[in-house]
Amino acid sequence: MDRLPLSVKAVRELAHAALRANGCDEENAGAVATVVADAERDGCPSHGLFRLPGYVASLKSGKVNGKARPSLETLAPGVLRVKGNGGFAPLALQHGRAPLIELARKQGIAAEVLTDMYHFAALWTEVEPIVEQGIIAFAFTSYLPSVAPAGAKRAFLGTNPMAFGWPRGTRPPMIFDQASAAMARGEIQIAARDGHAVRQGVGIDADGNPTTDPASILGGAQLPFGGYKGSAIALMVELLTGGLIGESFAFESAQRDNKDGGPPCGGELLLALDPARFGDPERWLAHSEGFFTELGGLDGARLPGDRRRANREKSMRGGVEIPAALVNDIRKLAGLAPAA
Ligand code: NDP
Repeated sequence: MDRLPLSVKAVRELAHAALRANGCDEENAGAVATVVADAERDGCPSHGLFRLPGYVASLKSGKVNGKARPSLETLAPGVLRVKGNGGFAPLALQHGRAPLIELARKQGIAAEVLTDMYHFAALWTEVEPIVEQGIIAFAFTSYLPSVAPAGAKRAFLGTNPMAFGWPRGTRPPMIFDQASAAMARGEIQIAARDGHAVRQGVGIDADGNPTTDPASILGGAQLPFGGYKGSAIALMVELLTGGLIGESFAFESAQRDNKDGGPPCGGELLLALDPARFGDPERWLAHSEGFFTELGGLDGARLPGDRRRANREKSMRGGVEIPAALVNDIRKLAGLAPAA
């Protein structure tokens, strides 16, 4: 497949132009374009420019308000709520970030619920700016019904990712971010687009038979990672981001969705913990660094996020390569001539 070299800045500018040309105001376009560019920069193409046509479809269909302004309120001493008011998630997340960090510092622990917003992004982009301020962070969000619960043959649970970030002083934070499906849906869509098989265990076809054909999985169901264990994590995410906060379960998101191919409406839960307030304020950092040193000494082991960070260093120096057809599709959405 033909690929075009782009700097990370050019990726952001392209995403921004397409969003601005299709009804996003400056704030919303800026917030979404940043998470798209960050995903390409860190080697997560399934949440990069690949998502732009979906974002634009939802602006065009009127499902998402590209000029929405999030609002913030306090629900309990340790619980904040950001309402997206029908906009894309990145601006709502940006809006609630500093108040969440401040509350975690004040109380030791704080939660933030996000409702009435449209989510399509990778969660590490959301915990990283919190963890960089020295605060431990968790993020959970749900998606449309895509995953068969353990033992079932029909998609019911979302791909429901969770992320966890741990601050490391002057070092980059440790962040893991994983779907509760065996493979993120975007990766399967990219495999279908590029015409290659996925590994066994990723999904089943519409008749419930195991398959490695991505198109059959997209028409059937994804499987949770680790069987019933991943299924339980997906179930937990549904409860935290639907039942707890008055938002939609995956199946309810599907009922609300207009099927324009863009992000579903739904909720998110963020938890923030100040490590200086949990009983070991002087030692927690050196103590946990000792743990990372021991772990790093094991042959074959690496920390989650190491791959992303290596990609980041490389792409900040040399840019990224994006499928030419995708670049031109997005240039068209932005009203620009095809790239040479
Ligand atoms: P991966 O399975 O690729 O990776 C999951 C985590 O495991 C990453 O933190 C990764 O770090 C780490 N990891 C991978 N290999 C190793 C290893 N050998 N040793 C140690 N750690 C390792 O991610 P998923 O496919 O599960 O998810 C992809 C993305 O999709 C996520 O960002 C998620 O938030 C997003 N998503 C978003 C949804 C939405 O609705 N918004 C829905 C579902 C998923 P590293 O990156 O460094 O490899």
